[in-house]
Amino acid sequence: KIEFFMTRHIGGRVHRSRYADFYTILMTIDTQTLDPKRDPMGAAILDYLTTGRAKTLTVMSSMFDDDEMPVDYLFRTTDSMPPLELKALEMTRGTTLDVGAGAGCHALALQQRGVSVKAIDVSPLSCEAMRRRGIADVECINLFDPRLGGGFDTILMLMNGTGIAGKMSGLGGQLRRVASLLAPGGQILIDSSDLSYVYQDEDGGMDIDLSGKYYGEVDYQMRYDRVEGLPFDWLYVDYPLLSAAAREAGLDCRIVAEGDHYDNLAQLSLERTNP
Ligand code: SAH
Repeated sequence: KIEFFMTRHIGGRVHRSRYADFYTILMTIDTQTLDPKRDPMGAAILDYLTTGRAKTLTVMSSMFDDDEMPVDYLFRTTDSMPPLELKALEMTRGTTLDVGAGAGCHALALQQRGVSVKAIDVSPLSCEAMRRRGIADVECINLFDPRLGGGFDTILMLMNGTGIAGKMSGLGGQLRRVASLLAPGGQILIDSSDLSYVYQDEDGGMDIDLSGKYYGEVDYQMRYDRVEGLPFDWLYVDYPLLSAAAREAGLDCRIVAEGDHYDNLAQLSLERTNP
């Protein structure tokens, strides 16, 4: 069933790639940063940093029950990071860009190791928190903002880095954008999860609507105290689809670590052109 689904879906992507430029245009139009009044995660991060505690950061979705994101998790240190993220930090080399850096846990760990790292995020409050934490190079800028310069040896996209693509239709555009920011020989380290386990029934079958949207496309909305964010799309992608999208974007893709919950870390690098 799954195999059928994947083939169908990859088929769908190939078909859609005729509109690739159109998607790139759509994606580059969306180069905004967040309004601080609509930035619940940033508010939670800044609150936690200044007071040492935070109220409840609620994650809502039309597809799941309300959930809570533990704010202290965003401040995790290398002692409490999952192995996938430790692997990414270990593989990081050269001038580094941390995309969607949040509270800056990875950027801070790298900076402490002497790595030259730039942290970017669309959340002005998170960026303020990162500056206060001592991260030297922080910029509140959208990944798709053309003013963001490139030339990075490593680009990190961690804690489900494919999320920023929003939907399957945005994944190619995201990968091409990140690839364009790489220095020759550079690498992208990105993690994601295969959400199919969410749809697994008791006897191991899958309860997936094959004619519907891809099962990793999720919608979220966050709330922190009285700050309610706008709804946004967030993409979880299984490895076969990620590597297919990477190939289409001219990137080599390999799994470098597998997590213990249907998640993995992938390394994407520019395909070597044969002389
Ligand atoms: N990497 C951090 C935070 C992950 S949460 C960690 O592992 O703890 C995802 C982050 O990506 C959020 O802080 C969000 O504001 C940011 N983000 C979402 N879309 C973005 C975009 N288009 N450009 C830059 N940052 C983005």
